[in-house]
Amino acid sequence: MSIGIDIVRGQAIQSIGALSHEQRLTVMTDSRNMVENGLFVPLKGERFNGHQFLEQAIQNGAVAAVWMEREPLPENVPEGFPVFFVRDTLVALQSMAKSYLNQVNPKIIAVTGSNGKTTTKDMIHSILSQTFKVYKTQGNLNNHIGVPLTILSMPEDTQILVLEMGMNHFGELTFLSQLAKPKIAVITNIGESHIEYLGSREGIAKAKLEIVKGLRKKGTLIIDGDEPLLANIHSHAFQIVRCGYGMQNEWQITEANESVDGASFSLNGKQERFSVPVLGKHNVKNAVYSFAVARLLGADMEMIRHGLERLRLTKMRFEKVAGMRGSVLINDCYNANPTSMKASVETLKALPGFERRVAVLGDMYELGENEMALHESVADVLTKPLTHVVTIGSKGAWIAEGLRKRHSESELEVHTYATKEEAVTYLDSLLDEKTIMLFKASRLLALEELSDKFRA
Ligand code: ATP
Ligand code: MG
Repeated sequence: MSIGIDIVRGQAIQSIGALSHEQRLTVMTDSRNMVENGLFVPLKGERFNGHQFLEQAIQNGAVAAVWMEREPLPENVPEGFPVFFVRDTLVALQSMAKSYLNQVNPKIIAVTGSNGKTTTKDMIHSILSQTFKVYKTQGNLNNHIGVPLTILSMPEDTQILVLEMGMNHFGELTFLSQLAKPKIAVITNIGESHIEYLGSREGIAKAKLEIVKGLRKKGTLIIDGDEPLLANIHSHAFQIVRCGYGMQNEWQITEANESVDGASFSLNGKQERFSVPVLGKHNVKNAVYSFAVARLLGADMEMIRHGLERLRLTKMRFEKVAGMRGSVLINDCYNANPTSMKASVETLKALPGFERRVAVLGDMYELGENEMALHESVADVLTKPLTHVVTIGSKGAWIAEGLRKRHSESELEVHTYATKEEAVTYLDSLLDEKTIMLFKASRLLALEELSDKFRA
């Protein structure tokens, strides 16, 4: 879990104080975290400058620090406290990650995509950790800071490292891919998130494909084979494995079924069944990506089947919760964009056994200048057997507006509320054993605060 002093020294242009060669250090960038033998690496952001928090870092376990040479060192630094001066602490963090990666040398799997990164990463981990020492991105640490931090926190005996890689702009995945040099890369899907920076879905596809920039020779790219924007990629440098529902896929999903407890599916028309304790066609795809990764690493069918069945997902991703008066709540409040919101609603519609299907949908952020049309587009899937649509927030209201425009005589009961609080009484009145209620919106809305009011 800790890096050696040589790696830190390798970055320094100058240093004061001394550390012994035996000492192993745990990198900390947030001075509020408590660690043992911490190496404090203060970062400079738009709002905060970590260099102001050395004292707190020391109180919380820092025994040494990396320091931007142009930042003044506080006068009260303890006598002999080791400080390694560098031009840029972020670059130092990234370079330390690279050195440590070379030293540990695990096989690397990089997972990107507009949606489904965390889920797929968790599925891959669930399968492979049965026989390998696998480390994965904790939570969502998936950017130019989170990826190096993930690498630096991996145990020294890690055999397989599963890295989630996110991006908002061109160039970011090129950087992360070249940093990590994956053996296998996965693109889960092409959605609309961050379209404001990338211009179009074509732009998003191009930016996601940067994940191959650091792919190792004879590496493999696993993709959503149903996505037309990825249909024409070919390469002599790496292998491509397509996964999805269409005939063109190497791993084709056949006979997918769903119940409230999860999804099951076969592959390529074979009899063998796999099941995952999560819902939705998109999650079946995520399961197949992890299947494809596991096959490439030599896992057998039994190991894959068991790994998928025992999956424990990070919370708030289509999480089934018991609701008041025998109702079922689906908490999908972790985040949302039009693609994932539509996918969630489709899943809600497909679940058997409910008379009242309520979609509670809220604001989605970072959608750029087309945000109104993108909210309205969700209305395409707001049809029977859905029975009620309840929107929350000023952007959420565009979803209801879209519904009015598209289906002038919608058979659904539609209500629009400006805030979560205003919706409580009405939603409460809909809850009984015949009701399933889905909650979905962008993270910023914290829609779980509403769904939590209706827990049994
Ligand atoms: P973030 O960018 O916030 O880290 P992520 O890519 O890690 O997101 P997840 O957290 O795994 O994505 O899933 C978020 C939501 O995306 C899920 O709740 C689900 O609604 C939707 N989703 C998951 N997988 C897919 C997929 N393959 N295609 C479309 N939508 C998906
Ligand atoms: Mg994620």
